[in-house]
Amino acid sequence: MQRSVYSFGNGRADGTRDMKRTLGGKGANLAEMTNLGVPVPPGFTIAADQCMTYLANSQVTEELRQEVATALSQLEEASGKRFGDASNPLLVSVRSGAAVSMPGMMETILNLGLNDATVAGLAAASSNPRFAWDSYRRFVQMYSDVVMGVPIHRFEQLLATKRLVTGAASDAELSAEALQSLVGEYHQLVHAVTGQPFPHDPQVQLWGAIEAVWQSWTLKKAVDYRRVNSIAHDLGTAVNIVSMVFGNMGDDSGTGVAFTRDPSTGEHRFYGEFLVNAQGEDVVAGIRTPLPIEEMAQRLPGAYEQLLETQHRLEQHFRDMQDIEFTVERGKLYLLQTRTGKRTTPAALRIALDMVDEGLITPRDAVKRIQPAQLDQVLHRVIAATAHATPIAVGLPASPGAASGMAVFDPDVAEQRAQRGEQVVLVREETTPEDFHGIVAARAVLTARGGMTSHAAVVARGMGKCAIVGCAALEISHEQRSMKVGDVTVTEGEWLTLDGGTGRVFLGDLPTQPSEVMRVINGVVAPEDAPSYQRFHRLMTWADEDRRLRVRANVDTPRDARVARNFGAEGIGLCRTEHMFFEGDRITAMREMIVARDEGGRRRALDKLLPMQRADFEGIFQAMDGLPVTIRLLDPPLHEFLPHGGEESSLLAASLGLSRQELQRVVSALRETNPMLGHRGCRLGIVFPEITEMQARAIFEAAVRAQRRGIDVRPEIMVPLVSDVSELRHQRAIIERAAEQVMGVMGDQVQYLVGTMIELPRAALTADEIATEADFFSFGTNDLTQTTFGLSRDDAGRFLPHYLDRGLLPDDPFQVLDVKGVGKLIRMAVRDGRDTTPGLKVGICGEHGGDPRSVTFCHESGFDYVSCSPFRVPVARLAAAHAALAS
Ligand code: PEP
Ligand code: MG
Repeated sequence: MQRSVYSFGNGRADGTRDMKRTLGGKGANLAEMTNLGVPVPPGFTIAADQCMTYLANSQVTEELRQEVATALSQLEEASGKRFGDASNPLLVSVRSGAAVSMPGMMETILNLGLNDATVAGLAAASSNPRFAWDSYRRFVQMYSDVVMGVPIHRFEQLLATKRLVTGAASDAELSAEALQSLVGEYHQLVHAVTGQPFPHDPQVQLWGAIEAVWQSWTLKKAVDYRRVNSIAHDLGTAVNIVSMVFGNMGDDSGTGVAFTRDPSTGEHRFYGEFLVNAQGEDVVAGIRTPLPIEEMAQRLPGAYEQLLETQHRLEQHFRDMQDIEFTVERGKLYLLQTRTGKRTTPAALRIALDMVDEGLITPRDAVKRIQPAQLDQVLHRVIAATAHATPIAVGLPASPGAASGMAVFDPDVAEQRAQRGEQVVLVREETTPEDFHGIVAARAVLTARGGMTSHAAVVARGMGKCAIVGCAALEISHEQRSMKVGDVTVTEGEWLTLDGGTGRVFLGDLPTQPSEVMRVINGVVAPEDAPSYQRFHRLMTWADEDRRLRVRANVDTPRDARVARNFGAEGIGLCRTEHMFFEGDRITAMREMIVARDEGGRRRALDKLLPMQRADFEGIFQAMDGLPVTIRLLDPPLHEFLPHGGEESSLLAASLGLSRQELQRVVSALRETNPMLGHRGCRLGIVFPEITEMQARAIFEAAVRAQRRGIDVRPEIMVPLVSDVSELRHQRAIIERAAEQVMGVMGDQVQYLVGTMIELPRAALTADEIATEADFFSFGTNDLTQTTFGLSRDDAGRFLPHYLDRGLLPDDPFQVLDVKGVGKLIRMAVRDGRDTTPGLKVGICGEHGGDPRSVTFCHESGFDYVSCSPFRVPVARLAAAHAALAS
């Protein structure tokens, strides 16, 4: 029989760190720490699969009850205390712990085992009745809230009243007697609200808590968190039952959280916060602003020395930055948790590179540790130096990036406003897991209380979202939906700008500027003056050594081509030539071409366009010297270029010598019911071959000119929206004829390729035939997704979110490639195309080319390259390295 309960304590454990799937992250690491000899209070873990079994059957199996009973008696032996023993009671914490960390998302109960009898035992054992009654009151409050559903504010009301009638300024001033009578009032409240007495039997308490932890897997906030972080819903959570140690036993006790390196900058220094005479939840919940960890050296010197040594040992053992929770009970240190610490991207880069230099990990490990999507953070904007604004307040810089938005003070309002397309900054006294949907909706988060490890800080950092926490100068009124800082009042809807890298809060919507990495890429700052760029570059160089896929960029101008190259692009995978026709006087020549009555008129207009196109292409070839440049022939329907009425139409009619009615007739004749499926793509070049001819000539003339200037040109001409090989054959013939003519006249040879986009299902289905005419395939997955799903690219936004909310589709197929359907067509087309033409070059140029999961698919499907927007190039490079390392 497979066991479901794993014990740890007194130097030996049933589990190890490799059992995260079974024990959850927390349970696996508690076991590992025990095995390492780190002081951990004894306890046991119920395996995560039991959560799913319970949720499916709504009852606890007899086998599990037996196993828990056995583990509990072992725990009693290990701790020398007995569960429910009135003279020396064993008290436990009951906590969730999933395989993937979900900070603050599920339930925790402390001090379980207390009742009217055992409280006396705790008072005697600790010689501190006040402490015992305070622990009991906390337990009743927590348990009744989590397990019995009594609203927490009802307890807080009673607590506030008790302070008032006893004249206590804070909870700490409440006497043992006051707390004792408060517990009595709590019991009455529970009975009044639920109709049931508070359970005194520790066994009943224990199972109530375990079931509540299991149930918490299905809470909205937990489900939302898993959805946002792509965590499987069927993992379930393990339950950790650990004997209590008390950080609130007096001034020789305390509790804290710490990171083995700075989670914000990555600096190699022990970084953390602690509270004297407090329980763990006080630190994490951000209720009291804690002290910096260095002060522990004075307050709790012995424990501090041991903590320093332990954190170092844990980091060396796990070979990664650790986030630890500890408690000191009467001078003795206990570790309650260790896990891989969440960090900002700048910190992640610095830690990974430092650890390579320290010999802890290899360059390949470093590459694997940075998630492609994380790179966005070092490309984040910062507040422009020209803003010259004075901050209204400064808080802790919890998560970098600069962001502006309208202040909102309620997570539901944040969500509603964001759904209306507004930019919001969520401002809270502190955040709790209940605020998660508001944090998701906000551009940035600002809190008045809590430290770098508070809920807001941890969650925002994990999401790569700008956050400032512990901004004590803020006086927030949630009722009035406003905040005050000195004599400035900010009400809901007023703009704020936050700089999460420095902790500064500004009024208004300030201009932002590119990050340091971006400034180097844009050529404004020299690499040697930019340490964060150097780290980025070093890691990307390692990633490049590991990947097999090439990465190109989708760009349309010489300037963007240069930027793309600085991002590491290895060519252009898509130059959308229509974008070149929209600017300035080009649009007039283009319009002349469209309204021309005959081929002669069209050619005259095209002759005007040719030099403009040629100049663009020459600039692009120069920027991409030595690298392939894929130029796509004109794609969109012609009416997109025409004016949509009014003054613009009158001006155009006049400049073309047409009456407004004549122009209107042309425009009407071109209008289509369904332009996406209409006269666009190669269908234009087939009906008007002179367009293809002009574009081909412009490309070859530019290529010859550039080549004469010593530039290594590699044009790849791409035909859009092909559905039958005959279309490609037709266009190819025109292109080849233009090549012969240009090279004949100019007397220079240029190597080039002619290929096609595969962006219609019929093209994929007949790829074997199409390959006879193609030197390469480039998958246009925007159109291929649109046409495979029969889902309009332009209209899907209206209803697709409903599909995602209801789980009918796992992802937006326009962002993450639909491997099941669209991917099947792609795989088939690659296979059939290469059967016809072995070694056929294959790439992708739809938006998916910059999405990490889609890049993985392209790697696995044997693509030669992916192409994406310049900003996504580093993401795609890293994703390609990850894909190669995983296969
Ligand atoms: C595509 O369809 O994927 C593509 C790249 O072309 P466009 O987005 O220009 O239609
Ligand atoms: Mg397309």
